[in-house]
Amino acid sequence: MQIVNDNRCSWINDLNPRSNIKVLEKNEECEWLIIGAGYTGLSAARKLAQLYPNRKIILVDAQLAGEGASGRNSGYLVDTTLNDGFASNKNLENYKKKADIYELGIKAIKNFIQEYQVDCDWNESGKYFASSKAEDEKILNNFSNMLSKLGFEHNLLDNKQLSKRLGTSFYNIALFTKGGVLLHPGKLVRAMIDVLPNNVQLLENSSLIKWNKTNDILKCYFKNGIIVTKKIIFATNGFLKSLGIKSNYNFPITLTASMTRSLTEQEFKSIGKPKEWGVLPVRPMGATIRMTKDRRILIRNTAEVYNPHQMSLSVLSKRTLKQKIGIKKRFPQLPDDLIHSSWSGIVSRTRNSSQIFEKIDENMFVAGCYNGSGIGVGTLFGEQIALKACSEHTKEMEIIEARNKPTWLPPDPFLSLGVKARLIYERIRAGSEI
Ligand SMILES: Cc1cc2nc3c(=O)[nH]c(=O)nc-3n(C[C@H](O)[C@H](O)[C@H](O)COP(=O)(O)OP(=O)(O)OC[C@H]3O[C@@H](n4cnc5c(N)ncnc54)[C@H](O)[C@@H]3O)c2cc1C
Repeated sequence: MQIVNDNRCSWINDLNPRSNIKVLEKNEECEWLIIGAGYTGLSAARKLAQLYPNRKIILVDAQLAGEGASGRNSGYLVDTTLNDGFASNKNLENYKKKADIYELGIKAIKNFIQEYQVDCDWNESGKYFASSKAEDEKILNNFSNMLSKLGFEHNLLDNKQLSKRLGTSFYNIALFTKGGVLLHPGKLVRAMIDVLPNNVQLLENSSLIKWNKTNDILKCYFKNGIIVTKKIIFATNGFLKSLGIKSNYNFPITLTASMTRSLTEQEFKSIGKPKEWGVLPVRPMGATIRMTKDRRILIRNTAEVYNPHQMSLSVLSKRTLKQKIGIKKRFPQLPDDLIHSSWSGIVSRTRNSSQIFEKIDENMFVAGCYNGSGIGVGTLFGEQIALKACSEHTKEMEIIEARNKPTWLPPDPFLSLGVKARLIYERIRAGSEI
């Protein structure tokens, strides 16, 4: 099935349009085929090409490379999370395993941007887990205890301190972590496309429809041709399930976000000229909200079970209204018509918030399902799945594989009904935090 994304994402529209787009038009053969050109697939292709500079690698995407979730996320490169979607990890040992992976993810991005001198508006600003509800202090105190045990630098802030730093008096309590980076996701993923080595052939607007395997040779079918390959890596994240991969272990969730225009000098002054900041919600369905370095406000406050292949503009505009209310609640002094663009994007979730990283059959590999934290982890997993597919063993792989595997999910319609019910429950719990 075709993937049709809206073309309204501010991050992507900030970039120069690309001109070198190639579509699959005839049958091809290659040593390696990678499906999906987001952070995961691009990183896998880059790593494979470095390992085997003389072998042919094909990377395909159903839409334009990097224009799925990788180009349309909120740009938090996280070292810690309080909620993974709607699951929290309260057990210290499990949390440490997750945080170890985040740390490796940050390192993977740092290495990439240093090696290729990438400008992606990198800001080591830390991040806030904030709430307007005073009773959430208990959650934050528990979280603070866990972070202390693991050695993460952080501190708790009250309404007065937050108003000064964020320019809104909406939040009454927050936990600030010093670690964590804010960046421009579109610039990052575009850089990954730009530096693809010569032996990687990128084919876009070409959707994998089906495949079969005979005598260790894989035949992959697209609308305009067949690619025959020896080895394949699936990096389609939110679309793993629709391709029938690990279907009982992952499911897609659709998120929507909006970005305002840049605030004028006067508007910016009216909120106290805060420095760039990023807030994550204490309650799972609360709003993620960010002030960018060029004075734009980004808000993401929906998560739903929806057809991952397309969201109509009329449905999207209803989500925009929720985002407009979310901004107004926090910044009542700003004008009503600030939102410049809105977009939807797909994340992949697992039941226990563990990621997928494995060999699914001889010469077939998959990496994905990062919940809301795929910038660093996707880049790391892409590089490491390429190494795993070449039978290499690394320390990073040991850390990745030390985490519990994703747990089994019931088939549809039970799964969708269960997830929908949980989302409704969390939305009610989030209340005014949306
Ligand atoms: C609104 C939003 C906010 C987010 N915020 C954050 C955040 O702040 N921090 C963070 O770390 N993460 C965040 N995420 C999650 C993050 O964006 C993802 O985890 C990450 O982009 C996953 O990268 P990926 O390469 O695995 O998948 P994707 O970027 O989704 O790439 C998969 C690619 O596979 C392609 N594909 C699918 N099916 C086929 C097929 N049949 N044939 C060929 N190609 C196919 C798709 O077109 C797509 O380009 C957010 C996501 C969204 C949507």
